[in-house]
Amino acid sequence: FPDDMDLRAILLQSRRLGVRDRTRAYSQWIRRVQGRGESLYHRVVTSAVDRTVNVLDTRTGEEKEMLMFGSNSYLGLTNHPYVEEKMTAAIREWGAGVGGPPILSGYSGLHRELEERLAAFKGTEEAVIYQSGYGANVGLLSALVGKRDVVYYDDRSHASTLDGLGLAGGASVKFRHNDVADLGRHLDAHGDGDAFVCVEGVYSMDGDIAPLDEIVPLAKRHNAVVVVDDAHGVGVVGRQGRGAADHFGVADDCDVLMGTFSKVFGVTGGVVCTSRDIADYLRHFSRANVFSSALPPSTVAAVLAGLDLLERGDDLVARLHDNVAYFAAGLRSLGFDVDPETAIVPLPVPEGMALRQAARFIHDQGVFANAVEYPAVAVHRQRLRFSVMASHTRADIDRVVEVVGEAWARFAPEGASCQEA
Ligand code: PMP
Repeated sequence: FPDDMDLRAILLQSRRLGVRDRTRAYSQWIRRVQGRGESLYHRVVTSAVDRTVNVLDTRTGEEKEMLMFGSNSYLGLTNHPYVEEKMTAAIREWGAGVGGPPILSGYSGLHRELEERLAAFKGTEEAVIYQSGYGANVGLLSALVGKRDVVYYDDRSHASTLDGLGLAGGASVKFRHNDVADLGRHLDAHGDGDAFVCVEGVYSMDGDIAPLDEIVPLAKRHNAVVVVDDAHGVGVVGRQGRGAADHFGVADDCDVLMGTFSKVFGVTGGVVCTSRDIADYLRHFSRANVFSSALPPSTVAAVLAGLDLLERGDDLVARLHDNVAYFAAGLRSLGFDVDPETAIVPLPVPEGMALRQAARFIHDQGVFANAVEYPAVAVHRQRLRFSVMASHTRADIDRVVEVVGEAWARFAPEGASCQEA
C-alpha cells in the first residue's frame, strides 16, 4: 500500500487479497508508518497509570515522563492505595483466579457480593457481572433480541453494541445522534416484535450526555426495552457517580443499565444491572457470560473498593468536575468553544490541520492525549480527545492548555477557528 493511503482505503483494497498477502501488505505499511514515528497507537507505558506515566520512546529506546490525558481512569483509581490494598488482600484470601465460568466453578462469594452491591448502587433488582464491557454488550444484545424484534440505536454507538447487534437475531435501525424526534419517527413506524432502544449515557468520543429525560419516556410510551450503556457515565455523573440515568432521574424506567469496570474503576470487566427476570435469563443464555471464565477475585475486589470510595462520598467526583471546569476555562481563553459535561474533552480538528503531526507534536511536548482519526469517525469529525482525571493538578492542566495553544498555532491553517468542527 502507498505510504499516504488511509486505513479505510487499505481495508477496502485488501479485501481482494488472500489472508497471507493482506496481512503481509498491512504489516509492511504499518511498520513504515511506525518507523517514521507517525503512529501513536500502542504506545508502551512503562509505569502505573497515574496523572503522569512513563512512556517508551521506540525511536531512542528511552523512557520519558508524560502527563496522562488519555486514560479512562477518570477518578485515578488504577493505583489508588485503598484499591491496591483491597486487591492485594483478595489475592491472599481468594488466590489468583477462579478457574471457570460463572455458571460452573467461577462464581465466588466475592462475585456475588459485588453483584449485590452494584444492583443496590444502581437501584435494580439484580446485576450480572461480565468479563468485559465489550462482552456485556455483545452478550446481552445477542441473548435478548429475538428474530422478530427491532433495535433502534444511536448512530454513535460503541463498536461493542454494533457487534452485539450483528450477532442478535432481529433487525437494527440507527437514529441520528441524540435526535429524539428521529427516534420518535422510527418508533412510530415500528411494527411487530419488541422494540429495543439502545443508547449510551455518555458518548465515548465526544463526552456528551444523552437526553435520557426525553429518550426514556418516549421509549416507554412505545413499550420499548431501554438499554443504556453507561460506560463513561458511572463514577462521573449522577448522585455519587450513579450514572447518566440517575442524573436525569429515569433509572427506574430503564430495563438494562450496562456499565464497565474499565473506566472509573480502573480495572476490567462489565456489568448488566437489570430485573431479576432478565438477569436469570442472561446467566443461562448469554454466551459471553456462560462460555467465558469469570473475573479474577482481585479485579472484583478493586470494583468493590471503588464502590466504597464512591459511596463514602469522597470528594473524588467533585475534584474531577473542578478539574474539567478548570481545563475548559483554559481552553476557552485560547478561543475554543468548549463546555464539557463529563471527563471527556474533544477538540475538533479544523479542516486542513494535519491531525497526525499535531498529535505527534503534543506527544513530543510530554502530553499523552488521543487522536480520533478517520475512519473511526468521519473526516469532518476528527478530533484530539483529552480525558481529565481527578488526580490532575492545576499545573498539569495549565501545561496541557499551553501545549494545545502551541499545537494550534503551529498546525491549524491560517484563520481557522478553534471552534470549527
Ligand atoms: N461501551 C462503551 C461506550 C465504551 O466506550 C467501551 C470501551 N471503550 C465499552 C463499551 C467496552 O468496555 P470494555 O473496555 O470494558 O470492554
